[in-house]
Amino acid sequence: MELHILGTASARPASQRQVSGSLLACEDGVAVIDAGEGFQTRYADHRKRLKTQSPPVSLRAAKIGAVCLTHGHLDHTWGLLPWLQTMALDRREKPLLIIGPTSSDTLEALCAGEPIPPEAPPAELARQMQSWHSLGATSEGLGYKVRWILGDVVADKWVEINPETGASTSLDAMPQPEGWKQVKIVPVATTHTVPSCAWMFESKEKSGKFNRLKAAELRLSKEQQTELGQGRDLTLDDGEVLHAASFRGESIRPRRFVISGDTAEQAPGLTALEGVDVLVHEATFLEDTKDHATEHLHSTATGAVRTALACDASHLVLTHFSARIKDGNISLSEANKAGEGLPLNISLASDGDRVHLHANGHVTHRSWSQNGWTA
Ligand SMILES: [Zn+2]
Ligand SMILES: [Zn+2]
Repeated sequence: MELHILGTASARPASQRQVSGSLLACEDGVAVIDAGEGFQTRYADHRKRLKTQSPPVSLRAAKIGAVCLTHGHLDHTWGLLPWLQTMALDRREKPLLIIGPTSSDTLEALCAGEPIPPEAPPAELARQMQSWHSLGATSEGLGYKVRWILGDVVADKWVEINPETGASTSLDAMPQPEGWKQVKIVPVATTHTVPSCAWMFESKEKSGKFNRLKAAELRLSKEQQTELGQGRDLTLDDGEVLHAASFRGESIRPRRFVISGDTAEQAPGLTALEGVDVLVHEATFLEDTKDHATEHLHSTATGAVRTALACDASHLVLTHFSARIKDGNISLSEANKAGEGLPLNISLASDGDRVHLHANGHVTHRSWSQNGWTA
């Protein structure tokens, strides 16, 4: 799984950083996580650079199966509508799933066919989805199928909005993108001023390699090898039992790539996770403004470290920096100090970076500069 980070600023663009937006590429396809202002321009620029790599890296929009929104603040959503319309101009055909968090009150109102409660905040995603629909973002208007899903992440309740009729249907479970088999998208509740969640991309556990050499040494027939290969124990003519498990190498445990949006540190949903390989966590503030973090339900760089340790993460990527932070290395050094001596690698995200989680758990963070990517 590889994450392409297109924006690392909080709230508004800063000199070297644009607002949130990233893409996660995996064997099943690509998912977009947040799409702030200017998303499609940055995505197009990033794709051009990827094409110049040898071998070229493809991140085509036709591979994108889902847009996972972390919350409704505009620095995470304002770029979505124009990009959906560009894909219509490009004659997209593939269906698209758009998922985001909502409150239990709004979800209940939608299910009952009632209007969004007036006390729901302006950034409520249900409001934004309705306004996008009125601006033409429907399957009919765009020419490709879009499913609009909202969920109360804590209660695990989901609803699908039909823009053509305005009606909502409750769902048994959060849908996955069409055709995805190896990687599952899992929402994880976070703590922010509006309903919010992180998105975990979890690969399936893979069984170890079949030991052909051992089978050949025992002069097993093709049929016998197939039996063992499919996990069935085998009894030989002399009564000896060959256990299928002894012909398999060690299985590869699921890999977990977690991308959070805006959140206070140690959000209970995140700290309840185990075995996280990569956690991408906001670090909006530095220690000297930690009161701001508490007040606005954001995190500091050291708060991101505390969260990473609580969910047993191997690698932490810091992102979403306040425009007041002129040098990201200060955030990194505060984080490194907090994580000193602990089994946690920490890196700093800049716009254009790529973070690769390999099947064996190894993580490579490639930083973008005008000369290309360096690990
Ligand atoms: Zn934000
Ligand atoms: Zn926010």
